[in-house]
Amino acid sequence: MWDVIIIGGGAAGLWAAGTASARGLKVLVLEKNVKAGVKILMSGGSRCNITHHCDITGIMEAFGNQGRFLKPALHNLGPADVVAEVNRWGVATKVEETGKVFPVSDRALDVRDALVRRLTDGGARLQTGVAVQRFERQSTGQWRVFTEGEEFVARALILATGGLSYAGCGTTGDGYPWAAALGHKIEPTHAALTPLLSPAVWVHELQGLTLEDVRVTAVYGSEKPQRDPRHTSRTSLLWTHFGFSGPAAMNVSGAVSGWEEPHRARLLVDLVPELSESACATLLDAQGGSGKRSLHSVLSQHVPRRMAECLSVQCEVAGDVTLAELPKRARLKLVESLKKLSVPLAGTRGYPKAEVTAGGVCRQEVNPHTLESRLSPGLFFAGEILDVDGPIGGFNFQAAFATGHTAATHV
Ligand SMILES: Cc1cc2nc3c(=O)[nH]c(=O)nc-3n(C[C@H](O)[C@H](O)[C@H](O)COP(=O)(O)OP(=O)(O)OC[C@H]3O[C@@H](n4cnc5c(N)ncnc54)[C@H](O)[C@@H]3O)c2cc1C
Repeated sequence: MWDVIIIGGGAAGLWAAGTASARGLKVLVLEKNVKAGVKILMSGGSRCNITHHCDITGIMEAFGNQGRFLKPALHNLGPADVVAEVNRWGVATKVEETGKVFPVSDRALDVRDALVRRLTDGGARLQTGVAVQRFERQSTGQWRVFTEGEEFVARALILATGGLSYAGCGTTGDGYPWAAALGHKIEPTHAALTPLLSPAVWVHELQGLTLEDVRVTAVYGSEKPQRDPRHTSRTSLLWTHFGFSGPAAMNVSGAVSGWEEPHRARLLVDLVPELSESACATLLDAQGGSGKRSLHSVLSQHVPRRMAECLSVQCEVAGDVTLAELPKRARLKLVESLKKLSVPLAGTRGYPKAEVTAGGVCRQEVNPHTLESRLSPGLFFAGEILDVDGPIGGFNFQAAFATGHTAATHV
């Protein structure tokens, strides 16, 4: 009999296996794919953004109202601990300007291999190419796990089957019905960290344009913008032939795909977050000797030329008009467009392009100190199967590692 069977050999499952085996437990990992850690391999453009360079509070804040649930797990394994551990396994790391932590080698493979080495060195067994079909609790309290043709018995189970995004990676949401069958509420799932679609042709025409520092806010219908960190993001935005990609768009996509009618969503883009509204008004004011300057030359100091041209078209004014000639109405409209450019959306690219799944096993029914089910003793959850999803920047691996580690410490 196994002390613990871990279902899913992804980020959370592999970390959990290493921790449990280091405790001297008899550990079996069952992974559906032929290779373990497929999402680790493809993560961060195959460079693997392991975690974020900040303290525990920074991680909690990035997860908004989910941060409190993660707090005890992060105290067990915070971002500095992840870096220290990964370094100890022989994988040197670096921090990039954005705060993202990567292996110095820029090879996700090094991270995946180190995770696998740690668990096998600890004596755990990793069986790949084995899909778990179901499991049941026996009258003895032990768990019987069924795969095609084989059965395994364990004292405890860790469910680390991930979410629904990139289903080709083995993540087909298998864990949700299993948890639901044991009485767990599953918060409705939807795609997050996925590109945004826009029906506006003028948006498509800006394809290839990257704005390095904008603030985007997703709003629904005529509702006012919400303060939720999942609705707003300040970082870079990429304009594409279908709408938007890049971290800013991806970070608010979970809110958009979660809305009942995602095509009613709009993206408000603050093109100049470093300037206040009144500073923008002053910028376009003909006073102070700038009346002879053309609109494009003034705008181009703050936004790329292509964006400046787009703004003048949007505001129905010629780009070569001087500030002195700029009609008041156009000036007001330009200020509004600079601070709150309103772009219609048509939903998101969904699960096939989503880096994570929002929703999942309801947090209230899982003990955050142990990651054990409050309904089914001996059953633990780790990683994306939980109703936990963070922004781009290494936050999701951090949550997967910390929950995997904590579950494995308490099985
Ligand atoms: C393209 C892409 C890039 C990303 N880049 C980053 C990044 O740089 N930084 C970051 O923090 N996050 C990144 N993420 C998100 C990150 O990959 C996930 O948050 C993380 O992998 C979740 O870990 P997990 O262990 O919960 O799930 P997963 O890593 O998805 O692992 C779940 C595993 O369970 C297995 N499984 C499922 N059902 C069964 C079954 N029935 N039997 C056996 N095994 C099963 C699956 O095959 C899978 O291997 C990225 C995601 C994608 C898709």
